Amino acid sequence: VITGLSGSGKSSLAFDTIYAEGQRRYMETFSAYSRQFMGGMERPDVDKVSGLSPVIAIEQKTTSKNPRSTVGTITEIYDFMRLLFARTGDAYSYATGEKMERMSEDQILRTIFEKFDGQPINIMAPAVKGRKGHYRELFEQIRKQGYLKVWIDGAIADVEPKMQVDRYKIHDIDIVVDRLVVSEKDSKRLYTSVQAALKLAKGIIRIADKDNNVSYFSKYLMDPVSGISYDEPQPNTFSFNSPYGACEKCNGLGYIFEIDELAVIPNPKLSIQNGGLAPLGEYRETWIFQVLKALAKKFEFSLTVPIEKLEREKLDIILNGTEEKINVAVEYNKWNVQNYSINFEGIIKMLEEQQERRNDEGMDDMENYRVLRTCPVCDGARLKKESLHFKVDNKNIFELATMDISTLKEWYDGLEDRLTERQNVIAKEILKEIRARIGFLLDVGLSYLTLDRTAKTLSGGEAQRIRLATQIGSQLMNVMYILDEPSIGLHQRDNERLINALKNLRDLGNTVLVVEHDKDMILEADHVIDMGPAAGVHGGEIVAQGTPAELLARHTLTTSYINGERSIAVPEKRREGNGKILSLKKATGHNLKKV
Ligand SMILES: [Zn+2]
Repeated sequence: VITGLSGSGKSSLAFDTIYAEGQRRYMETFSAYSRQFMGGMERPDVDKVSGLSPVIAIEQKTTSKNPRSTVGTITEIYDFMRLLFARTGDAYSYATGEKMERMSEDQILRTIFEKFDGQPINIMAPAVKGRKGHYRELFEQIRKQGYLKVWIDGAIADVEPKMQVDRYKIHDIDIVVDRLVVSEKDSKRLYTSVQAALKLAKGIIRIADKDNNVSYFSKYLMDPVSGISYDEPQPNTFSFNSPYGACEKCNGLGYIFEIDELAVIPNPKLSIQNGGLAPLGEYRETWIFQVLKALAKKFEFSLTVPIEKLEREKLDIILNGTEEKINVAVEYNKWNVQNYSINFEGIIKMLEEQQERRNDEGMDDMENYRVLRTCPVCDGARLKKESLHFKVDNKNIFELATMDISTLKEWYDGLEDRLTERQNVIAKEILKEIRARIGFLLDVGLSYLTLDRTAKTLSGGEAQRIRLATQIGSQLMNVMYILDEPSIGLHQRDNERLINALKNLRDLGNTVLVVEHDKDMILEADHVIDMGPAAGVHGGEIVAQGTPAELLARHTLTTSYINGERSIAVPEKRREGNGKILSLKKATGHNLKKV
């Protein structure tokens, strides 16, 4: 531990000398060619440094401004949880809440025998599910393959040449592979037909009984009631940083920027012509007003009536755009009128793009016209709804990510008893990794954080302790760790755990160098360096060093505080204030919960 009063040169010794020299030596291991890209490192002003191990500084700064980096991703706990969910999660249908099932061919056959014994059934291979189209080619194909019947929207029909259905309606079409009465003596035929149907529909079949009730069977995850199926889960399915898992509306951020109508239209009594759209101002001969004119013509609204008189759907088009092409006629002069066909994605989007192109500083900042909203699709959970319907012991991965670390630990405690034997076999190693990392976080006093907490909202001290936790997890040896006041902001009880965590790091075979004022930390050190005797130009000297006991035998400013000879006096008289108070009620955010 390096201690001493502020400005006495503690950080100069730890960071500017020891760490800088360690970095420089590390750089020298690269080839001259690589080094030219890394910039030079100056040799610190020091005569000789010997016995220096590779150094890693665990500083108090927030690691990342990236909104996609969270406590869960930095500590890798979330990554292991994704693996856990992909391998052992149970899928539930988002439509019916039914547990999704996958069956082997044998299981499918056995279930058909049990459910439909002695009954006539249709074995069908679904070809179209809830889509529009006339499907001429499909029917032709089915006919050529030799199938005689199809199931169209709930009824059986004969396959005929030039067959088609209403192209503007939504259809369900199945190929009827076989019609038979289920019985043991015909089991060979049932087996062959089920196999053929599974092959046709890529692992899915439907069985219609004599009353036309339909059941689904699938080799993949499927809701037996609605027939909704999920892809086989992969770790990516649970990653909000992957297109396979991220909510499509917010791209996995959990929030979206929406147009703030009150800001765009502060006075709905104004017409568009008279400046009713705040970012545009009054009518001018500009491109965007030409576009608005074209919109007004196409969708039949007026630019001269107060905006509050416009129909809602038309205002929506102005703000959010339309999928239809817009024809804009620009009259350069009487003989030269040009027509442009454009896509229109709303005025805010359009202005933003203009701003980007021109890099126009003078224009209003479009940010002022947008508000941050929790994503309405995933409700802040960042994942697709399918991903949120995989559960382990009745919890989805987002529910776990919003638990604080100590609650999460309780959930993982004894999880084995709540898993099936098969799940336990698969989960064993994954659970070991998760528990170890949760343990490291608890060791550094971060039991109150949640895994979904974004890295950029962490305090410097929290970020430092997370990095400390990951370093303990990395189990490196022969490394020198340098930390700057890790005890800052810590509760007394957690301080003890922190000291133990640092000792752990030491016991792995590392050197831990801490710049610290904390009394307990100093007394627990193997070796203390006391800098002084005063601040600034009067500092920079080592006034004492040795074990804490040796240090206390000496008389320095630091030891006098530790001995209690000196203390920080509590002011006898505090300022009275002016009688007014500033009160905060129900403050909520990050670590604050309605205080
Ligand atoms: Zn979303």
